[in-house]
Amino acid sequence: MVLKEAVQEYAIIHGKLIKLKKNDGRRLQAVCLGGLKCPFYLYASKLDKSESTFVIKTMSLEHTCGRVDKLKYASSKWLCNRYSKKLNRDTHLDVKSLQEDVLEDYCMNVTKHQIYRAKKRAKVMIEGSYIEQYGRLRDYA
Ligand SMILES: [Zn+2]
Repeated sequence: MVLKEAVQEYAIIHGKLIKLKKNDGRRLQAVCLGGLKCPFYLYASKLDKSESTFVIKTMSLEHTCGRVDKLKYASSKWLCNRYSKKLNRDTHLDVKSLQEDVLEDYCMNVTKHQIYRAKKRAKVMIEGSYIEQYGRLRDYA
């Protein structure tokens, strides 16, 4: 879901503790838990069930909270997506150097464990697409 990812990306870039309160595929509601009664608020919903696009109904991007540098959204999945080019180019990529990249790009500290998991995920993805291509090749033959 694109909007959910956009909200997570926003949270990471701005260093905010955004929580998805409602995310049932039809409605998405996000609040900020960073400060006491931070006014950030986002509510979006689909126009109708068959529609894949979300429409943002209400939104307040104002924050009264401070920046946090450790976010749970910096998941291995996110890291893997964000740094897939780098990870694909070099599966033996130095953990510390990627850690420094994340810190530089997003002012965010991630643990070595998170990087390891992102690397593992990238490896599975590469192998997966290889198998897929191999399967297609076989179809041609
Ligand atoms: Zn906030």
